[in-house]
Amino acid sequence: MASISSPNQNGKAYTYVDHAFDVVVVGAGGAGLRATLGMAEQGLKTACITKVFPTRSHTVAAQGGIAASLQNMTPDSWQWHLYDTVKGSDWLGDVDAMQYLAMEAPKAVYELEHYGVPFSRNEEGKIYQRPFGGHMQNYGEGPPVQRTCAVADRTGHAILHTLYGQSLRHNAEFFIEYFAIDLIMSADGRCTGVVAWNLDDGTIHRFSAKMVVLATGGYGRAYFSATSAHTCTGDGGGMAARAGLPLQDMEFVQFHPTGIYGSGCLITEGARGEGGYLVNSEGERFMERYAPSAKDLASRDVVSRCMTLEIREGRGVGKNKDHIYLHLDHLDPAVLHERLPGISESAKIFAGVDVTREPIPVLPTVHYNMGGVPTNFWGEVLNADGANPERIAPGLMAVGEAGCASVHGANRLGSNSLIDLVVFGRAAAIRAGEVIDRAAPVPELDKAACDRIIERFDRLRYADGGTPTAVLRDRMQRTMQEDAAVFRTQESLEAGCRRMKELWGEMADLKVTDRSLIWNSDLVETLELENLMANAITTVVSAEARKESRGAHAREDYKDGPLGGRDDVNWRKHTLAWVNEAGDVKLDYRPVHTDLIAPGIDPQKIAPKARVY
Ligand SMILES: Cc1cc2nc3c(=O)[nH]c(=O)nc-3n(C[C@H](O)[C@H](O)[C@H](O)COP(=O)(O)OP(=O)(O)OC[C@H]3O[C@@H](n4cnc5c(N)ncnc54)[C@H](O)[C@@H]3O)c2cc1C
Repeated sequence: MASISSPNQNGKAYTYVDHAFDVVVVGAGGAGLRATLGMAEQGLKTACITKVFPTRSHTVAAQGGIAASLQNMTPDSWQWHLYDTVKGSDWLGDVDAMQYLAMEAPKAVYELEHYGVPFSRNEEGKIYQRPFGGHMQNYGEGPPVQRTCAVADRTGHAILHTLYGQSLRHNAEFFIEYFAIDLIMSADGRCTGVVAWNLDDGTIHRFSAKMVVLATGGYGRAYFSATSAHTCTGDGGGMAARAGLPLQDMEFVQFHPTGIYGSGCLITEGARGEGGYLVNSEGERFMERYAPSAKDLASRDVVSRCMTLEIREGRGVGKNKDHIYLHLDHLDPAVLHERLPGISESAKIFAGVDVTREPIPVLPTVHYNMGGVPTNFWGEVLNADGANPERIAPGLMAVGEAGCASVHGANRLGSNSLIDLVVFGRAAAIRAGEVIDRAAPVPELDKAACDRIIERFDRLRYADGGTPTAVLRDRMQRTMQEDAAVFRTQESLEAGCRRMKELWGEMADLKVTDRSLIWNSDLVETLELENLMANAITTVVSAEARKESRGAHAREDYKDGPLGGRDDVNWRKHTLAWVNEAGDVKLDYRPVHTDLIAPGIDPQKIAPKARVY
């Protein structure tokens, strides 16, 4: 480790600290920690950089649970889990990745148990599992399967704390409250490290590494109302885009049916899993009409659309008839206390509601990003285009919500993200163990590339235009909320493209008032805004181009036909989107992987068909 100073373009000195590691993981949520742990366990010299304290990553907020076909409560199998995931994805997910997920899930959950995650228990003392939306028995025929393993309603919290402890035990080195600015890319497209800013003392850290893993989470904060933490700003997507890499399937943004009206705070689907149900202003359990078999446990995109339709047709509740009620008041208070203590508290704090007596006011709220940095099912990033759909970007991996493997396709099933984090965090570590040459030296630091990264940083630090970051961010969030929402039309999406392009141009007029390098939240938020913008503009442009309805991408101008607007002939393919400095987005497409990686299921079982619940 060396410490040097060098002047920047404004003549002001930055203090550099240089590091060399086998692996640098950016992000300490469930995915980043599982990858870090797996790397460190193999004796790879591993660093984990995180802008927030590890146990404050958004994974901490995951309530409902983690899916795996353990069969502790009902019959189940990986084949049924695979089927549900394929159907949930609306046949856009990659079959190899989805099969890997379903088959590896039980192993990954038992591993978590052995690491020390304190799972809730059933009467036999086995891991407790609850029903969740879109998870069924018998290849979707039903009844609902109990597949979602839970630690009461604090599953993510328990997983993060356990994985952080285990990572420390294996001597992974943590760089906490460091903000990763950009990837160091060589001229031939290899990632050789990352540059980060120590928020606490203002030093700039240049990490050289044989492998960099992006585990930076989602970009929910591109929207006005989101269940995700304010730190979910798609920094990994922003860094990848600036490195010239594509982002995949960005048009698929999941709205969770039950964000608390007003605050957006999440009420887990586990609430409906435990017997909660939705009603409209007429007191009707309307989901029975739309999804006769799965009812309130149909998949998220379906429930969100039905709620939006009810509100539109004048059957919303409240003074403005603009939301829906979720009832839990018929459930045994002892069950609520034992299984859903956290959401009882959230409902009290954010809606002033006592769930044992009153319904909770809820509204579909942005919750998850299916799209992200494209990878294969080993977490290796794909520098893909139409002509080279499987080309790997050497030295770079992406896992968790930042990545797109793609296991969730056009729509993620509840409790399939936490399992994605640990299965693919683990897979990335296994793969890194194979591809990293332990004997080789760590790539030499490319100082010229680092200087370019710091030039951009410096430009933002001294940005002296007329638009405060918070003002531009608010305009972006409202644009996305209005023009790329639950329901979309050609008109709304064209408006979204136009408005996002204008907002992109306004980044040149940003104003940062704080010039310091120590706890400068103004500059952090500006770096985050640039990252959000790259995610947002690729989302809306990809959505405008996709002329069909599939999963979370519901277009009112494409809703007819036997598949409800889905067009498998022309659109069963992944979108790839590149954005340049001027905010121009280029699109291309790559095929969906349809081949199984192991026997055990008749391929006909997962062949495309209409998606009904
Ligand atoms: C309220 C809520 C409840 C949920 N409940 C469930 C559930 O019950 N079951 C389920 O399966 N899924 C659930 N999900 C989804 C799931 O929790 C997330 O998809 C998942 O936790 C994302 O994990 P991650 O590791 O990819 O990223 P995160 O947990 O978001 O972590 C991102 C990490 O990256 C770091 N980072 C980001 N940018 C930078 C940067 N520039 N420099 C340095 N570090 C950076 C952050 O510090 C953080 O450590 C829920 C999501 C929400 C929002």
